[in-house]
Amino acid sequence: MKRYYLLTYGCQMNELDSEKMAGILEENGWDSAENLENADLVILNTCCVRAKAEDKVKGKLGQLKKLKLAKPRLLIGIGGCMMQQDNVGEKFLQQFPFVDFIFGPHTMDRLNEIVEKSCTGRVLELEDDRFDVPRLPIKRESSFRAWVSIIKGCENFCSYCIVPYVRGKEVSRPLGEIVSEVEEHIASGVKEVVLLGQNVNAYGRDTGKVDFSRLLKNVDEVPGLERLRFMTSHPRDFSLELVDAISKMPRVCEHLHLPIQAGSNRILKKMNRGYTREDYLRLVEYIREKIPGASITTDIIVGFPGETEEDFALTMDVVEKARFASAFTFLYSPREGTPAAILSDQVPREIKKKRLNYLMERQNKISLNYNRALIGTLAQIMVEGPSKKDSEIYMGRTRTNRPVVFPGQATPGSLQDVRLTDCNTHTLYGELQEALPNE
Ligand code: SF4
Repeated sequence: MKRYYLLTYGCQMNELDSEKMAGILEENGWDSAENLENADLVILNTCCVRAKAEDKVKGKLGQLKKLKLAKPRLLIGIGGCMMQQDNVGEKFLQQFPFVDFIFGPHTMDRLNEIVEKSCTGRVLELEDDRFDVPRLPIKRESSFRAWVSIIKGCENFCSYCIVPYVRGKEVSRPLGEIVSEVEEHIASGVKEVVLLGQNVNAYGRDTGKVDFSRLLKNVDEVPGLERLRFMTSHPRDFSLELVDAISKMPRVCEHLHLPIQAGSNRILKKMNRGYTREDYLRLVEYIREKIPGASITTDIIVGFPGETEEDFALTMDVVEKARFASAFTFLYSPREGTPAAILSDQVPREIKKKRLNYLMERQNKISLNYNRALIGTLAQIMVEGPSKKDSEIYMGRTRTNRPVVFPGQATPGSLQDVRLTDCNTHTLYGELQEALPNE
């Protein structure tokens, strides 16, 4: 049997696309290879969000070139949104003559034909945008969790972000299609569903029909679903009514990822984020009031062009006030093709690094304190499986998305009660509680 190997870069949306690519290939007689060396086909599913992504992909292609020299019948393909951007796909095809085919997110449904065609000649299949991408087969990585795409594209045009230029306009999937996909996943054993989109709160904006809270309610009511999550949210589109609605949905987990990006109104405006620090903090306060115990996580960019010490201090002020459970922190790096990349007041790298270190140090302490406050409490976790480092130790997640490791074993996807006994900055430690005799 022919074997494929997929390498995925970027966000959950790309992980989901890779699951679909695997689904298409397996439906057409391919099997997964354990490693690159055993594969007859290697596909790189690329991401264009970070400026460094292109270098990473090029580095991997260096390794693949050697592999192809040793194994000339190996097929190499590149997909994903990086290929869709400007003329990157065409450029890569010229620059890397050992690459057999290039495709994009909008031509992924034709993957099998593309692979077949590439056996007789090199293929470039890109399309700017398509609204009729059919439902694709899927090979899920997890037996109990499924990612479900609800909206594609983004029209926010944050000034640092390339996504709107490559992923196109917002297009919401019909409600009925989403609900029936969730029902199918539940029927196949899924317990947790994660709704995905670049800006999930914009769901329905293009159709003017069902909005995000109505969609959530419909999914929340699917029988057999245990947990419901969604990402990514945009603080501007996250209304107080949505918080009210979520507080009444039992399966929606008490974890909200709300990227603030910066704490200075001046920088937020330059980023074109559409909210102020005051709006954001009001939203956080409202969430804490309506959804007790909710964990809020965020993304923060340090060193956006023109960021002064005062602006950075305002970011730190939000960090202190919002008490995020955790934060993904990034150094601003100019992304070619975005308005922010041509701003003249770029912050020197040394200053950006200093600010980032300071932010990370402080956020780590806040995360540690957040975890420490949970020690001694009982938490319900959904078991994920053995920990990567030690198969005697298992790992699960709380509804608030905190990872918990515990000694012993339990079935992946099962819900277990654990007593939290210890923690470090990013992980909680716990002990499984005995099930009641008649459970
Ligand atoms: S909301 Fe902003 S950061 Fe997020 S994908 Fe859209 S443009 Fe990019």
